[in-house]
Amino acid sequence: MLIALTGTPGVGKSTVAEILRKRGYRVLHLNELAERFNCVIDEEDDCKVVDVDKLAKEVRKVVRGLTIVEGHLSHLLNPDLAIVLRCNPLLLKERLERRGWKEEKILENVEAELIDVILVEALDNVEEVYEIDTTNLTPEEVANAVEEILKGVKDKYKPGRIDWLSEVGDHLDDIIRR
Ligand code: ADP
Ligand code: MG
Repeated sequence: MLIALTGTPGVGKSTVAEILRKRGYRVLHLNELAERFNCVIDEEDDCKVVDVDKLAKEVRKVVRGLTIVEGHLSHLLNPDLAIVLRCNPLLLKERLERRGWKEEKILENVEAELIDVILVEALDNVEEVYEIDTTNLTPEEVANAVEEILKGVKDKYKPGRIDWLSEVGDHLDDIIRR
């Protein structure tokens, strides 16, 4: 069973994946798999351009039992289930600023989170999709939520409850490009 742990850059995928690995789960990183199976086509400011169709085939070779693949393209690998981590765009912007990314790249990603880009892609490509609002959770609590989904407690993570547009309200001007 292949589980995608996905979400906009900065939402906490790698942090949560590391906690799950320490708890005994089999966790793989999409970037490492892309390198290993020669699926990196290009590299654009620090961001790998990956041949996801090729990688989707290759990744089957390393799925053993429950396998979690972490990365913002993991929902495109034909997983059985996708878990989309979500984060309030205002908080996400602060996090991405700390990464020292250029303004354009930060706003591109913050806007993508605002309008649910990864969630919509996941819903288009994956049979079972859940989302976790990580905004007020610690990484440990997010890992607990992932474990709940894996154990079948899924109802409260059904997509559609998150509405960043109404939550950011008056601050919309701070996070969209003009
Ligand atoms: P991703 O892998 O999705 O790009 P990271 O795991 O690298 O995101 O997390 C981005 C930053 O946010 C890191 O500095 C991390 O420590 C912090 N972070 C991640 N999850 C949380 C959380 N639930 N609460 C507070 N900070 C977090
Ligand atoms: Mg990461």
